[in-house]
Amino acid sequence: MIYFVAAIAAIAGLLFGYDEGVIAVASPSLERDFPMSPFEQGLMTAAVPLGALFGAIVAGRLTERFGRRGVLMMAAALFIAGALASAAVGSIQLLMFTRLMLGLAIGVAAVVAPLYIAETAPLKIRGAMVSTYQLAITVGIVLSYVTGLVLGIEGTWRVMFGIGAIPGVVFLIGLAFLPESPRWLVLRHRETEATASLRRLRGPTANIEAEIEDIRRVAAMEQRTTSGVSQLLAPWVRPALIVGAGLYFLQQLSGINAIIYYAPTIFAHAGLSSESTQVMATVGIGIVNLLVTIVAMTLIDRVGRRPLLVAGFVGTACSLALIAVASLLPGLFPTWIVVAALVGYIASFAISLGPLPHVIMSEVFPLSVRGVGMGMASVSNWGFNFIVVFMFPILLGAVGLAGTFGLFAVVCLGGIVFTLTRVPETNGSSLERIESHLRAGHALSELRPSTEAGNVNRVKPGDSR
Ligand code: BGC
Repeated sequence: MIYFVAAIAAIAGLLFGYDEGVIAVASPSLERDFPMSPFEQGLMTAAVPLGALFGAIVAGRLTERFGRRGVLMMAAALFIAGALASAAVGSIQLLMFTRLMLGLAIGVAAVVAPLYIAETAPLKIRGAMVSTYQLAITVGIVLSYVTGLVLGIEGTWRVMFGIGAIPGVVFLIGLAFLPESPRWLVLRHRETEATASLRRLRGPTANIEAEIEDIRRVAAMEQRTTSGVSQLLAPWVRPALIVGAGLYFLQQLSGINAIIYYAPTIFAHAGLSSESTQVMATVGIGIVNLLVTIVAMTLIDRVGRRPLLVAGFVGTACSLALIAVASLLPGLFPTWIVVAALVGYIASFAISLGPLPHVIMSEVFPLSVRGVGMGMASVSNWGFNFIVVFMFPILLGAVGLAGTFGLFAVVCLGGIVFTLTRVPETNGSSLERIESHLRAGHALSELRPSTEAGNVNRVKPGDSR
């Protein structure tokens, strides 16, 4: 059942990835019908991250009130409406509006889908399950490129945008068959439904008593604390917010979306002169991103979060530095070295910086503020995503490729320090154990996997504040 839950919930990522990539392939035919100024082009592209920023702000409150599955269904319906409306618009202003709608749906789902998966997955495979969300983003990006290749550059943008409604419909129908999160149900005092939901998730023969008891005990502690934004800033919750928002800051400032959005430009800088080679190389980047994300999923729950993050930051920093040096000293390095460095960058990203911020964000927040906290962390994701995509052409003009990539490399070095000093090893700990660790006032980065076997790490009865 949990594989089905993760597969359906992760479609949220596919919707995001598809919309991110589709703009690149739909732009030529769109411009033929609606000639745009650079400002309009920028606003039309950025409408999705902007809408998602608002979506992330309201997602927490919505999911606390209407549940995880309920809010995902609302987002799916909004997404379908947005995709169909985008395909039908008669002006660029209307398209900006419909893309804002799509962004809103994507932003809400980007908070709630990882949260829902983390709350329903068994401890031992939680990291891999939440990573299906990241995998789906990469599948969405590749699917949009392939749609563009199949329909051809002369194909119509209306079909490309409209096709996005299909995964939206699968998402909505699939959600109708999933159980609500048992953790949210306990928080809403719907005990019988919570037990029934956990039973469906774990199977008819599994022993669910210990897990449900732990959820109840932590939920009971939650009732004594206030929920909401003010609690997010309480000294014991703040470290979780710093880790969630900080990892997204680092993920975005590592320059990933500069590469996803502007890969052909970067390849041109590196010396690949033919346009078709640039496009093929871009599709190649998308495929490497997808394949290495699958490798990451097999490692996250075995190697742990911290070692993978450190390795990823080292890999991205070295690849970026190499590209920076190569573009400073043209002629010294053959083109293939720069292409190999870009592949090295994307592989280092996909093995760690891609999936791990989503995974860790879904693990560190206490139950009562999980939705609101993940929403705030997500605001950091969309906000910095917007800033990097918007600033990249400007930076490129001001300090060149070497300066820009050098800057991204320095951020990645900072990521190593941040990981070592702030990021907890959440692998091998139940969500309840992570929360107890925070409540006890321990430094989050000192969390280590429990040595206890089994599916649940028991929370000590005295673990309260
Ligand atoms: C990031 C996106 C990025 C994508 C690329 C995600 O984790 O949040 O901004 O485009 O990875 O695979």
